[in-house]
Amino acid sequence: MSDPGKGEVYAQDGQDAHIEEVGGRIEGNWEEVVTSFDNMKLRDDLLRGIYAYGFEKPSAIQQRGIMPVLSGRDCICQAQSGTGKTATFSIAVLQQIELKLNKTQALILAPTRELAQQIQKVVRALGDFLNVTSHACVGGTLVRDDIRIFRDGVQIVVGTPGRVYDMINRQALNLNAVRIFVLDEADEMLSRGFKDQIYDVFQHLPAKVQVCLSRRRCRRKFWKFLKSSCEIQCASL
Ligand code: AMP
Repeated sequence: MSDPGKGEVYAQDGQDAHIEEVGGRIEGNWEEVVTSFDNMKLRDDLLRGIYAYGFEKPSAIQQRGIMPVLSGRDCICQAQSGTGKTATFSIAVLQQIELKLNKTQALILAPTRELAQQIQKVVRALGDFLNVTSHACVGGTLVRDDIRIFRDGVQIVVGTPGRVYDMINRQALNLNAVRIFVLDEADEMLSRGFKDQIYDVFQHLPAKVQVCLSRRRCRRKFWKFLKSSCEIQCASL
């Protein structure tokens, strides 16, 4: 991984933050670079989880990407696999969970079952000392297990759009307390034809939810596209 490059300008209040990794260089509208996990003002038990997992220093995308998510802005992070983007949003999500509230507070969607399961493992490992509850909600597993798990309460749900929407429809999964919605590999999700399901899920989220999106490929108007499609109508995509 190369050193982070220099960004352009700060995101103004109310603006979305965007961070892009281009050939190992990080660009975007967020200039703050935090080169150590210790300086991110993270919970002690989250820091313990990060170090226990084996991370010593944030990767380039983490140095730039964790803080804007913690600022509460909608964020877009463009980076290839292998740059550490899973931990970027996992750490930011774990920092924001209200630990005493036994309700779903974060929803992470991924395009494949395997990726959703991998992300949930990372969330579980990094959040080990926080006693946060998480669940991978994906097809190919027993529906009744999901229903039971949601009845007991899960703080972070990582899933694929189809099964997650099924759980919402069955009123097993309630999204009223979700504060952060992450779409990992959003470009891949759209190309796999999940746009209607993403739209359906979005309709059940609180109006003020923070949206974080990661993508691999560069499509300039993608973010505006997705936001307006979710807020206005998906058919325009
Ligand atoms: P990802 O891009 O999220 O698929 O991550 C790629 C790999 O980098 C995974 O094996 C992570 O465990 C690893 N990784 C992510 N962040 C760090 C870090 N700060 N220090 C060391 N390894 C990391």
